[in-house]
Amino acid sequence: MKGRVLRSTGSWYNVQLEDGRLIECRIKGKFRLEENKVTNPIAVGDWVTISQEEGLETAVISAIDKRQNYIVRKSPKNQYKRHIIAANIDQAVLIVTFSKPRTSLGFIDRFLVITEMYHIPAVIVFNKQDVYKKKDHEKFAEAVAIYEPLGYPCLQVSAITGHNMEAFQEMMLGKTSLVSGHSGVGKSTLLNTMRPDLQLATGKISAKFNKGRHTTTFAEMHELAKDTYIIDTPGIKEFGIMDLELPEVGHYFSEFRAMLNDCQFNNCLHKDEPDCAIKYAFVEDQIAESRYMSYLSVLEEIQ
Ligand code: GDP
Ligand code: ZN
Repeated sequence: MKGRVLRSTGSWYNVQLEDGRLIECRIKGKFRLEENKVTNPIAVGDWVTISQEEGLETAVISAIDKRQNYIVRKSPKNQYKRHIIAANIDQAVLIVTFSKPRTSLGFIDRFLVITEMYHIPAVIVFNKQDVYKKKDHEKFAEAVAIYEPLGYPCLQVSAITGHNMEAFQEMMLGKTSLVSGHSGVGKSTLLNTMRPDLQLATGKISAKFNKGRHTTTFAEMHELAKDTYIIDTPGIKEFGIMDLELPEVGHYFSEFRAMLNDCQFNNCLHKDEPDCAIKYAFVEDQIAESRYMSYLSVLEEIQ
């Protein structure tokens, strides 16, 4: 039988079968770790083959399908190993707001560096449209002008008035989405329009929850509708941005990529080097100022 891992609690995996049934599974014997740099053989989002144990309600996982992609973080126990947070993610959905709380373009750009690192398509959802002032509408138009040409669709919504909620739901349907955003941007409110009983931990892992538990290590998948899942994980800002080598950073700013070969030096950091294609493009207004500033700020942070 085939199924998908929705959550894991230590040695047990909660697997959903194709008919929707849930079954508790475990791994029998020693499961081969494809890469020995990884601490967990099976992650949330994995598609697995299972066989029911005779006379028991539980099952054993015998195989795992090749992953389309996956996100990792450093293992809390061993800095050289990686813990797979979630696998087979169709899109990353970043929910942002202009005020209460304010999401900066720098934050959006850092998020996009991470989704580029893991080859996950990203979309940006601008919530709380009902409370936009004139300048917020201008900011939205600016964001659209920056991000849509780079391949990141932008959607303006209001979970409260229902503005564009059909488009939002359509964007989610049939996909597995990683949903992120500052606490208070309206993630729960938006997703509750699709499944009212949903209880999210995203961005809300309060000190109360987190104490003494490695809660942040675990992700969980929730079914919103048929074939529609969200991966709930408390923040992805620590997912490896700090592990990047400086010359790699430019590769994750998608508009830089096509120009990188035109820099004089192949390890160019696009800062003070002569004959730099990126700086040239920036001066010529082919790269948005905020994007270049975010790039410099990521470099600085890693340094
Ligand atoms: P989360 O922390 O991202 O899950 O945010 P919540 O869903 O808990 O929402 C935080 C606050 O923002 C709540 O008071 C919501 O009622 C409010 N909120 C959510 N969506 C909207 C919206 O579209 N417009 C307005 N005005 N408030 C919203
Ligand atoms: Zn350069």
